[in-house]
Amino acid sequence: MSTVLSEIAVVDAGAASAMRPPALWVAPEYTGSIAALEQKERELGERLAGIAGRFFRARFASSLAAEDMVLTDAILRGTEAVRAGIRVFTLQTGRLHAETLAVLDKVQAHYGYSIEQFTPDAEAVENYLKKHGLNAFYDSVELRKECCGIRKVEPLNRALSHADAWLTGQRREQAVTRAELPFEEQDEARGIPKFNPLADWSEPEVWAYLKRHNVPVNDLHAKGYPSIGCEPCTRAVRAGEDVRAGRWWWESKDSKECGLHEQNIKH
Ligand code: SF4
Repeated sequence: MSTVLSEIAVVDAGAASAMRPPALWVAPEYTGSIAALEQKERELGERLAGIAGRFFRARFASSLAAEDMVLTDAILRGTEAVRAGIRVFTLQTGRLHAETLAVLDKVQAHYGYSIEQFTPDAEAVENYLKKHGLNAFYDSVELRKECCGIRKVEPLNRALSHADAWLTGQRREQAVTRAELPFEEQDEARGIPKFNPLADWSEPEVWAYLKRHNVPVNDLHAKGYPSIGCEPCTRAVRAGEDVRAGRWWWESKDSKECGLHEQNIKH
């Protein structure tokens, strides 16, 4: 009898574990020293000051996700020259999560700063929707890139049309397409320099910074989203999955850029 009961217990435990949802990504703990983190922060401040000193109209394209909130915080709590010299904007694609849009209000409340929003051309969106439907980006890489072109790339081009340099929150560790990301590169298409001040930062360093400085973040991070884009093209990721696995998850790893950073891709 006891054998039967113990077998039932084993079967029940197995069924319970099969029904349990998989553990989702959580922000990693930083295990390095505070001195090392402070050094990284000093370097970041120097990088931003260097950019603000060299350019008059530098622009930071923020996705409002974790890395970009590190940069936003460093800019908005930076020197007057950095704050005035590097303007922060975001691409309001029309397909963002409510949680992402809420970050705009959080930034306003925390820093008294209004992040400029660039929206897609209404006619281009309407034509795409008429021709292909609301969620055609699931059908092919081409249709996905066309949607990103309308909702992200064209507004980005407009946002940068008067900029003399631009910044991103990209890190090398984020994706195979970003493995050789430099701190400074030349954006050949736009003819201006592009800076990636967090290129050499690790994910734990990003999260240590955010916690240390009480930076407002997107609520989706606490729901298993390390990387956040448009709502229909982003899902939560499981613990141990690639941090960008939730972006355009139906595509292969090699095509996962939206056109904003095409030159990172090694052909
Ligand atoms: S991420 Fe998705 S919804 Fe957003 S612009 Fe690209 S294809 Fe369109």
